[in-house]
Amino acid sequence: MADRYQQFTKTPVGKFVVPKLGLPNPATLRRYKPGQPALEGPALLGAAPGGRLEKTLKDQLADAGIDVVTTAADRHAALVFDATGITDPARLREVYDFFHPVIRSVGPSGRVVVFGTPPEQLEGRERIAQRALEGFTRSVGKELKRGATAQLVYVADGAEEATESTVRFLLSAKSAFVDAQVIRIGTEGKTAVAPADWEKPLEGKVALVTGASRGIGAAIAEVLARDGAHVVALDIPAQGGDLSKVANKIGGSALQLDITSPSAPAKLAEHLKERHGGVDVVVHNAGITRDKTLGNMSESAWDSVIAVNLASQLAVNDKLLADKVLNDNGRIIGVSSIAGIAGNVGQTNYATSKAGVIGMVNDGAPKLAAYGGTINAVAPGFIETKMTAAVPLFIREAGRRLSSLGQGGLPVDVAETIAWYANPASAAVNGNVVRVCGQALLGA
Ligand code: NAD
Repeated sequence: MADRYQQFTKTPVGKFVVPKLGLPNPATLRRYKPGQPALEGPALLGAAPGGRLEKTLKDQLADAGIDVVTTAADRHAALVFDATGITDPARLREVYDFFHPVIRSVGPSGRVVVFGTPPEQLEGRERIAQRALEGFTRSVGKELKRGATAQLVYVADGAEEATESTVRFLLSAKSAFVDAQVIRIGTEGKTAVAPADWEKPLEGKVALVTGASRGIGAAIAEVLARDGAHVVALDIPAQGGDLSKVANKIGGSALQLDITSPSAPAKLAEHLKERHGGVDVVVHNAGITRDKTLGNMSESAWDSVIAVNLASQLAVNDKLLADKVLNDNGRIIGVSSIAGIAGNVGQTNYATSKAGVIGMVNDGAPKLAAYGGTINAVAPGFIETKMTAAVPLFIREAGRRLSSLGQGGLPVDVAETIAWYANPASAAVNGNVVRVCGQALLGA
């Protein structure tokens, strides 16, 4: 599972050879450790005149322990710009004016975050100006070096106070492998309320994680438990041994169940209701691949992938909502894939199922808002797991290097993004599909 090339670049020989030959030199990404400061240095905050967010952002950054400055220093751990005041394309120059003099000052694993207004809620020239921010941010993501990332957050008018969990996620090491994403924060649904303890935002909550015996699912279970949740770790009976190990390690409980069996939704609903009084966070992580080009694909390869990766999830959601097993301010979180966005050779079944997960989010968002919850998904790119270790060498190397961060992500990167969605303070983060892909060129 190790990225041997990246390890080589850190050896004395690698440090000599790599720059001489102009080879890719992926940075060591800063990752979250409990108690560490959110950023390693100051955040420069700027705003276009007339913006809605500057004051709120200043307070939220300071509350997160970040040193906020408004005049440029030599080095910044983050550049944050409130672009909500840009009402006309002629004023896009203000983005250039803020970033141009300071973009080279962004430190290793630094952060650029631009805030705007969702263009679809605007009209005319303001809509055009706000939409333009996307091209800016995605290009900055491609230009930044040393593991730094850029994001765009569209905050609906009226959702100014609902941004705190997103600010804390993006301006910390938790978002290490999230790059060049567009996030939307809305006004429907519940009011976002800050947790009593930001280090334990899921205290007292119950989370279900499917496919939790290994890989990304095990990392999700660990991170949600770290954040205070009691985790019900679910996997097929054949994975029972590994599942128990994960559940024991995190003080959670193990549930052996094939999620595709017709009785699974009812059994699951009953288990969650009777043992735990309901569930707060549902993470549909279980997934399989059965790769073959379409002409060579068997019916069973098609059917099994759609059953695990999509149909079973829809059936579980329907049951949990119908029986009110999902608690108030509950979360449903899907795991899509960049293959579901871009398509992939040999994966018509898988990409169909993973694009279906995006459809599930689109369709579910208004329903969940009405129910008092949210539904979102992550779309991982190349993540270092047993699944990707089995990919042939050249395809594997392309998957790792053909991205802005020049490396694969770790399961924990997907897990941290899911924990941000799960946070009770993310009540206004609904209907998003955020890629955890280091700005992979695939599907861009
Ligand atoms: P993995 O194969 O290591 O783990 C998947 C888990 O799901 C396994 O423990 C498996 O037993 C379980 N599972 C399969 N069918 C099940 C069923 N019917 N009922 C209950 N559990 C079942 O895979 P992973 O790499 O950890 O991937 C986790 C998720 O992330 C999957 O949805 C995958 O499609 C997605 N994903 C992974 C990558 C990557 O690079 N690894 C990229 C994009 C998306």
